[in-house]
Amino acid sequence: MQALSPKKIAAAALALAGLCAATAAQAALNVLACEPEWQALTQELGGDKVSVSSATTALQDPHRVEARPGLIARTRRADLLVCTGLDLEAGWLPLLVQQSGNDRIERGRPGYFEAGSFVPRLDVPARLDRAEGDVHAYGNPHVHLNPHNVALVGAALARRLAEIDPANAAFYQARQADFSARWGAAMRKWEQQGAPLRGVAVVEHHKNMAYLLNWLGMKSLGTLEAKPGVEPSGAHLAGLLSQLKQQPAKMVLRAAYQDARASQWLAERARIPAVVIPYTVGADEQSRDLFALFDTTIARLAGAAR
Ligand SMILES: [Zn+2]
Repeated sequence: MQALSPKKIAAAALALAGLCAATAAQAALNVLACEPEWQALTQELGGDKVSVSSATTALQDPHRVEARPGLIARTRRADLLVCTGLDLEAGWLPLLVQQSGNDRIERGRPGYFEAGSFVPRLDVPARLDRAEGDVHAYGNPHVHLNPHNVALVGAALARRLAEIDPANAAFYQARQADFSARWGAAMRKWEQQGAPLRGVAVVEHHKNMAYLLNWLGMKSLGTLEAKPGVEPSGAHLAGLLSQLKQQPAKMVLRAAYQDARASQWLAERARIPAVVIPYTVGADEQSRDLFALFDTTIARLAGAAR
């Protein structure tokens, strides 16, 4: 047998190194987020060690999603599912996971992460009555619009990424520390900018701004929906309008994914601005990441309250 020349050995080693690098790139953790805010957070913490997509876009109602074939395929490949929980996805996620046949992301497994279980919850019903509409038994699930909740979820998510991918545990921990420092500074800025909003009264389309309003000390006078999940009716809007004559609101809020008509109807008659809140990452050009989402949200609220 002929001995390999040093040059050939070097070439083989290089090829092998290339192969390893390619394998490492392919081995990025596959993450499926249910909503864009958790996709963005996973990306902040996971960097190039994760490949993450979202089941929904910022222009979709996260309560209602159709399990299309492409989404089922992404679910099948996922090592980790990052969702809100608290029944937000109750209408579509259990079926999606079942259809995917991927048991690594079943509820109770490390691959199943629910953001809502790491934050203090609002609107937990004292008793359950389905006649009250699409009531969330575990409390209001729209938790991400309080940035303190994003920080809590980020810490828990970094731990989960390290658990699922222990080889990169130190990497996730370092990314988390860096994110947490930048996020903390941004929160102090937002809280300063948002100080004049304290006590400002609003009407919201659906109770999906509850955590935002609670964080900023704003007041919700009512919702365009008569009951959660039920589209606004003329009778309910007329009642709301006469209520606003007694107790005026400064603005009507809706998320970018929600239909404009009801909030425009009320805004015109009550002579107050109708404000579109991006609600989540990617709703518009100004809301490309989590930091920009809150920059935009605070700027719009402050602009309308002036
Ligand atoms: Zn909801």
